[in-house]
Amino acid sequence: MNGFDARNGVDLVLVDFDDTLVATGPRFQNARRTLFELMVGEGFDPDRAHRVHHDEVDREMLELHGLGPFRLEPSFRETYRRLCALEGRTPDPAIVERCVALARDVIGPPPCYDGAIEALTRLAAALDTVLYTQAGDPDYQLDCVRRSGVMDVIPPDRVRVCTRKTTAEFHAALVHFGVPDPGRACMVGNSIRSDINPALSAGARAILIEVDDPWIFDQVEPVSDAFVRVRGFPEAVQHLVGDGKGEGRGEREGEGVGRGEGEGEAGVVRG
Ligand SMILES: [Mg+2]
Repeated sequence: MNGFDARNGVDLVLVDFDDTLVATGPRFQNARRTLFELMVGEGFDPDRAHRVHHDEVDREMLELHGLGPFRLEPSFRETYRRLCALEGRTPDPAIVERCVALARDVIGPPPCYDGAIEALTRLAAALDTVLYTQAGDPDYQLDCVRRSGVMDVIPPDRVRVCTRKTTAEFHAALVHFGVPDPGRACMVGNSIRSDINPALSAGARAILIEVDDPWIFDQVEPVSDAFVRVRGFPEAVQHLVGDGKGEGRGEREGEGVGRGEGEGEAGVVRG
């Protein structure tokens, strides 16, 4: 694999939560698909429904309500109302209720990916590991994290929830966790927008977990190619700590600290 030698000189690994350790996106994506089917069934043009939802309403609701499932109810309801307004139709209260029910179905702790907690345990035994996640409602997010079993591996004081993962927030997380040199930190996550680009912009390393059905909002261009692509969190852990044979935090202390950045494979990818 190209990219960097992640095993050298990493003092801190920041691990994303949604769609990295737990399968959050599929419920969001399925709810959106059902919303679009409902809109098409009501006679609206599918392209217009997509555009009104993705390009207008959901972006407005992200600004108002932040990331997470709670914006979906106003977002789905408003998508229908706006489509009606564009065509001079009066919204049907029964359809509004169906939009609301679709959105509410997305709320609740997402299931862990197979092997994710085991891989996290192995990672945390070898390298200083923290959970770095984002949400519009931090209490909801912390409850999801707690119920996932992550806090059995990562203590609560090593879990950081921010409103939006920007480059500035990434720097703040490094300062918070006592690693001021970004070059000695590695972000592992599924979002180019929220995980890879902020880390690369800050000067840190990054490992992208590619997902099959990425959220349209996450599909942005990477700011550089200097990151590694893997097909799941256990593979990311393997990249960071090897195959687990003879590995351990103490055994790596004498190894080099070269970064080897800039040779990553190019390419893309929550919900
Ligand atoms: Mg994620």
